[in-house]
Amino acid sequence: MIKAIRGTRDILPPSSGVWNSVEASAREVFRSFNYQEIRTPLFEETVLFARGVGEETDIVSKEMYTWEDRDGTSITLRPENTASVIRSYIEHRMDQWVGLKKLYYMGPMFRRERPQKGRYRQFFQIGAECIGSEAPAVDAEVIELVVEVLERCGVEGAKLLVNSVGCPKCRPGFIETLKQSLQAVKGNMCGDCQRRADTNALRVLDCKVPEDQPVIDALPSILEHLCGECAAHFETVKDLLTARDIEFEVKPRLVRGLDYYTKTTFEFVHGALGAQSAVCGGGRYDGLAESLGSRVPAPGIGFSIGEDRLVMTIEEARAGQTAAGPDLFVAPMGDAAVRHAAVLARELRRGGLVVEVSSDKKLKRALETANKTAARWTLILGDDELAAGEYSLKRMETGEQKRVKREEIASAVRAD
Ligand SMILES: [Zn+2]
Ligand SMILES: [Zn+2]
Repeated sequence: MIKAIRGTRDILPPSSGVWNSVEASAREVFRSFNYQEIRTPLFEETVLFARGVGEETDIVSKEMYTWEDRDGTSITLRPENTASVIRSYIEHRMDQWVGLKKLYYMGPMFRRERPQKGRYRQFFQIGAECIGSEAPAVDAEVIELVVEVLERCGVEGAKLLVNSVGCPKCRPGFIETLKQSLQAVKGNMCGDCQRRADTNALRVLDCKVPEDQPVIDALPSILEHLCGECAAHFETVKDLLTARDIEFEVKPRLVRGLDYYTKTTFEFVHGALGAQSAVCGGGRYDGLAESLGSRVPAPGIGFSIGEDRLVMTIEEARAGQTAAGPDLFVAPMGDAAVRHAAVLARELRRGGLVVEVSSDKKLKRALETANKTAARWTLILGDDELAAGEYSLKRMETGEQKRVKREEIASAVRAD
């Protein structure tokens, strides 16, 4: 038997219905904030991710699906989408478009991670990028957009964590201070931390090893090392979040190891999956376009929501609820009725109802199927009904049955 590749999966009904409704809700919210969709290719030249995501990250060093194409070009399946969006921004000279560039995307990403619950090698992200402004008001609006998407999708209780990671003026000073503090304590930390203390000290701050947590909590905070511009930017972002009644927690350990990340960084965590885990991460990346070769600066901020986790959170909250069945199950009995049912079903579907036409020839079997598919109503259509020009409409929940005329079917089904 051929099976799906390890770390990938089929998304089947009724779960696929939840995916559809999440994506539809997200699109509505994006539209209301005047974002438009961008669709970039699923694969790009490897060098894009090496530069845009960073050679020394786990993603690029261990997790990418990379191969050499027949002409020798190194190609990679996208492990995330921000680099591709910025590549597209530069390629299509979007700096010359009017106003802010507000782009959203949704689709699969690929990382060869160790398979574990809730993590897939083909996973899905819903994200957006807002390019063209350094203003703190943009950061607050982008965060509000995530709040709205999560709410519209039915996720309750997600917690917002915010921080500032400074800029190329102030961050190097902080990293020096951090390295010095680490010299004294790194001997008591895990192997990764000992190595990172010298190579990429900021990443020590995201270590998840429980024994290291008290040590990390006692390390210096980046917020005490921000330059005037970064500190003022962060204050305004927090102010504008408060003005929107968006609750947040400042988390000085929330940092990103790459140079082009600047100022605001944020995460939404949710407790539904056992330990608090991130459903969304985002931040400002004012230096990214230049590191990808843009001659004009393109300050921007974006986020990505892990759709697999988002759906899992929603499904946990809805556990036990059954998926909706068709509005109407049409059960034709006999050849003439089958032909008539097809015309009738078309009419009702065009009127907006979800209609299923039975392929069972026996009434008892048809009614069983109607029950199992959770149809709300069943329309029985036999020779008697055809001759009388009336139909038997059965409400599945109560079993009550009534005779209706053709033009009354839709309103009877809708009324309930
Ligand atoms: Zn700064
Ligand atoms: Zn550690």
